[in-house]
Amino acid sequence: MSKTTKQFQTEVQQLLDLVIHSLYSNRDIFLRELISNASDAIDKVRFESHSNEALLEGNSDWKIKIVPDKDAGTLTIRDNGIGMGIAEVEENIGTIARSGTKAFMQSLKDKAASTDNPELIGQFGVGFYASFMVADKVTLYTRTAGSVEAGCCWESTGDGSYTIEECRREQRGTEIVLHLKEEFKDYLDEWRIRSIVKKYSDYIQYPVVMDITRSETPKDVDGKEIEGAGTIDKTVEETLNSMKAIWARPKSEVTEEEYAEFYKHVSHDFEPPFKTIHFSAEGTSEFKALVYLPARKPFDMFMADRKKGLQLYVKRVFITDKCEELIPDYLRFVKGVVDSSDLPLNVSREILQEDVQIKRIQKGLVSKILSTLGEVKEKSLDDYVTFWKEFGQVIKEGVHFDFANKEKLQELLLFESTATESGAFVSLKEYCGRMPEAQKDIYYITGTSRDALEQSPHLEAFRAKGYEVLFLTDPVDEWVVQAMTEYDGKPLKAVDRGDISLDSEEEKQEKEKKREEAKKEFADLISFIGDHLKDKVKEVRFSNRLTDSACCLVADEYGMNANMERIMKALNQAVPESKRVLELNPEHAILKTLSAIYDEDKTAPALADYADLLYDQALLTEGSPIKDPLRFTRLVSELMVKAAGK
Ligand code: ADP
Repeated sequence: MSKTTKQFQTEVQQLLDLVIHSLYSNRDIFLRELISNASDAIDKVRFESHSNEALLEGNSDWKIKIVPDKDAGTLTIRDNGIGMGIAEVEENIGTIARSGTKAFMQSLKDKAASTDNPELIGQFGVGFYASFMVADKVTLYTRTAGSVEAGCCWESTGDGSYTIEECRREQRGTEIVLHLKEEFKDYLDEWRIRSIVKKYSDYIQYPVVMDITRSETPKDVDGKEIEGAGTIDKTVEETLNSMKAIWARPKSEVTEEEYAEFYKHVSHDFEPPFKTIHFSAEGTSEFKALVYLPARKPFDMFMADRKKGLQLYVKRVFITDKCEELIPDYLRFVKGVVDSSDLPLNVSREILQEDVQIKRIQKGLVSKILSTLGEVKEKSLDDYVTFWKEFGQVIKEGVHFDFANKEKLQELLLFESTATESGAFVSLKEYCGRMPEAQKDIYYITGTSRDALEQSPHLEAFRAKGYEVLFLTDPVDEWVVQAMTEYDGKPLKAVDRGDISLDSEEEKQEKEKKREEAKKEFADLISFIGDHLKDKVKEVRFSNRLTDSACCLVADEYGMNANMERIMKALNQAVPESKRVLELNPEHAILKTLSAIYDEDKTAPALADYADLLYDQALLTEGSPIKDPLRFTRLVSELMVKAAGK
């Protein structure tokens, strides 16, 4: 292939512009990103060579070499890792393969995040593109391990296009030459490079080396300097990093800064983590783990092609950087490393899926993560709430999917309720702790927002009794309450389902009497309304839960409520036809009025209109759309004209 000029995919160019113009607050990280990539590339060739020794090409002196060249003004980073073929270079560096990226770029623009929230860009992992923060031209030479085909040379000034061509490469691996911008030539300084490597890449498990030349005075056989002999230059390849696998070290020997830097390495996140969990397990399964809970949810948490999984090492040898089997899907935001002592080195993908050791490790990790979260919640609720606001939704997924840890997960749940301020939360334990003695069940209402739910007529009787009702406003909550039918022996009940009674025996009898009277008094009217609305509701009956409103709709004990119906429709799922019950408030004045009209003229057209209005009112108060808004407004207008009487 001869030299070809190509355009970057639009999104790549946008990303590049963002990187160049927004991440200036910490330019040093370009070196960390390139060293990280180089280390990953060595990991890969080492792993592949277990099953194909030819890939080593007789070169397993693993290292990442940094070459500053003051005369040329270039900084070169070279590795003997897996390298890339032409197609790979184009795929990895000219385009953005992940489909979530477009949406992500859009959200960055919408939030003007390019200036306000550079950490968001960090979450995306700008990697290689960070080079353009300090260089006005980047040249990349690379050749795939064990490849007989030629290598490849890629070059760009970061302004829309790049060139790519085949070129001979003796050495396997990748070499990246940064032509530094004039103002960043200080990155060629030995001490500058040393300090950046030490700060950001000390734990990298391969030597990061640099040729260091020092002037020395020659020494005699006894090691004494020879006077008057002048100086000679001596060059030695020095290793700049300590290479200690941070997870393998005792906790007491790892500093906060080291933990924080390692987090950036595994997560690409610019912000410090919410929590660092470092532990080792012994017994049936021996492993060391260093995992992090991020402070902010990743932009792709709910996207199908999101990055997930932890890094897996076996006895400090890298196996894979995305072992999905190590962590259940609902904890997909967790980042970090697991190093197992029990797995074989030549473990394959298929084995990972089936392996009992992996399952044991997963169990240990989940248990540790959940108990850590439990501790945070106990010790500092405010901290926990910040975590919950970011990750509560996925923790709730766990209640549905992780049956084995249901108990622990239930304790982690937080909800808003009729007794909390907006934005404040109550746990189930707290809720039960402050239940009035007469209250036996835990009550909740599901819907789209707290504001909408606050208006719900279903809450009237609960308010009157002083019973707290949880607001469940996440779509996932419907699944949570399906999986969790009780807590601490107390059933969870939806306020808009089934026949609810909050009354004492005495009150019950009293109300029952009233209901019976109302039933008798309004029997014909009720059967008229029921008949008129028979296509819309299953039954019309008197309510126990209303004190102020005239009516509301309730689902059967096991039927589908309005919220679930809305969610199913949003998911394009077929929604089974399920009629609900229209409950009327026996004490409401409207009944007397309707009944007067009915007694006067059983065929009065107004009766049918009023029945429809009652039904539409019930829909509106629960936040459901009405079928015929035009007719609704016409009827209301007519009523207003009549009432005004002018
Ligand atoms: P990330 O590292 O987050 O995937 P980068 O833009 O840094 O993003 O790199 C994109 C891809 O290019 C990497 O996933 C890797 O496949 C490839 N790559 C980058 N640097 C190297 C390297 N030194 N050797 C081999 N492949 C590399």
